[in-house]
Amino acid sequence: MSFVNGSVSYWFRELGEVRAGAPLSGHVQADVCIVGAGYTGLWTAYYLKKAQPDLRIVVLEKEFAGFGASGRNGGWVVGEIAGSAEVYARRHGRDAAVRLQRAMFETVEEIVTVAAGEGIDADIVKSGQTTVARNAAQQRRLSETLAHARDWGWGADDLMIVEPEQRIRVAHATGALWTPHCARVQPAKLARGLAEVVRGLGVVIHEGTEVESVRARTGSAPAAAVTARGTVTADYAIRATEGFSAAFGASHRDWLPMNSSMIVTEPLPAAVWDEIGWAGAELLGDMAHYYMYAQRTADGRIAFGGRGKPYRYGSRIDDAGRTQEWTVDVLHGMLADFFPAAADVPLDHAWSGVLAVPRDWCSTVALDHATGLAYAGGYTGHGVAATNLAARTLRDLMLRRDTELTSLPWVNWPVRRWEPEPLRWIGVQLMYSLYRAADHRESRLGRTSRIAKAADLISGR
Ligand SMILES: Cc1cc2nc3c(=O)[nH]c(=O)nc-3n(C[C@H](O)[C@H](O)[C@H](O)COP(=O)(O)OP(=O)(O)OC[C@H]3O[C@@H](n4cnc5c(N)ncnc54)[C@H](O)[C@@H]3O)c2cc1C
Repeated sequence: MSFVNGSVSYWFRELGEVRAGAPLSGHVQADVCIVGAGYTGLWTAYYLKKAQPDLRIVVLEKEFAGFGASGRNGGWVVGEIAGSAEVYARRHGRDAAVRLQRAMFETVEEIVTVAAGEGIDADIVKSGQTTVARNAAQQRRLSETLAHARDWGWGADDLMIVEPEQRIRVAHATGALWTPHCARVQPAKLARGLAEVVRGLGVVIHEGTEVESVRARTGSAPAAAVTARGTVTADYAIRATEGFSAAFGASHRDWLPMNSSMIVTEPLPAAVWDEIGWAGAELLGDMAHYYMYAQRTADGRIAFGGRGKPYRYGSRIDDAGRTQEWTVDVLHGMLADFFPAAADVPLDHAWSGVLAVPRDWCSTVALDHATGLAYAGGYTGHGVAATNLAARTLRDLMLRRDTELTSLPWVNWPVRRWEPEPLRWIGVQLMYSLYRAADHRESRLGRTSRIAKAADLISGR
């Protein structure tokens, strides 16, 4: 099998050559310094600059804008909160958790609207999302998921049972849920388009500039981002490094850099699409524990993602996105199992990236006026939309606006840290081995396996 492995992502390869902006050279003074030019950093720069055009904003990016998960993801702009509503509700009450969920629904629309308004051509289509069950155990979980969602703010128009055959013909599908709150996007086009818009607004983005440390404001000394090329001092320093955050010493155990891997096929012949019946741009997921996510790309391919090797010892990160052969084989096998008609369509590219998972699976948007430090992340695979909501929230917090957004329960949500190594590594390996075993057993069992419940206990989900 010959395909491109790594090289960041197919999404970037589709864009052609990326010309990175100039690195930082020397010391600079700004009002706001943002570390990381993924969606969190870029959306935050966008909303701050729109709200207050005279703000001097500098973004520092170690590689190029979109290099991280923002340029590698599955392209689901998904309006679902990370973590569980129950956990947010325990601390802030049920209404707050429901408000966060509804804010995520609205965020999908916000992204579609802003991208269109700013002329960002990122193949965005608000097409909804189908989740299929493929055995009796998954079918039961599908019904439980619907009942749970109804309890937590999802109305009849937000999530509904549909006939899987009507949407996408997935082999062995027994049932499906559909939500309108999801849009398909070409991730790298969104990241690069956003970077261009932000530059047009007057934000300075220095690419090829790695931040070594972020310093808090002390006395009369402002906050700062320190690099080998110079230091940016600012009233506020925002860390927008999600899955890369473990590299910042004090945050080493805050968020686990969880790996996710993807493959993309060559374009499918029209006859294969006809057989699959996937006519629109809706996103596809499943109810397995070791779940998959997929999109039909604008250029007629299937992009198919899943867990792969979940985690590297010591929170290490493989930056270039190279993916182990067995992960590619597993994903390719799954794709063929879902769509036998596409089994012989050659693969074109495989890649991986990291997203951040907090110990309690709840995201945080935090800003401290005393130190001038802020950060947002821990979106656990829901970051394409959540980054936008986080950015608008950071804007309101920084500008001291008292809004609906600043009262959402994830604001200053305390980060629950992961265990030290080797416990962290052992726990994650065990958790995903159990989920894989549970999926295997459930194909015969007819109900959720006890093995999966054990894995849930370890994962803390
Ligand atoms: C394969 C994959 C599939 C996914 N699929 C989906 C999906 O379909 N839907 C969804 O909602 N979410 C998905 N996610 C998660 C989502 O992509 C992320 O949550 C989101 O992009 C996070 O954006 P971010 O800007 O916070 O972080 P990132 O996009 O990771 O950006 C962080 C940036 O910081 C830079 N950086 C790191 N360290 C430094 C430093 N020291 N100095 C300067 N710069 C630094 C990095 O180079 C990077 O550009 C997926 C993630 C992956 C990896």
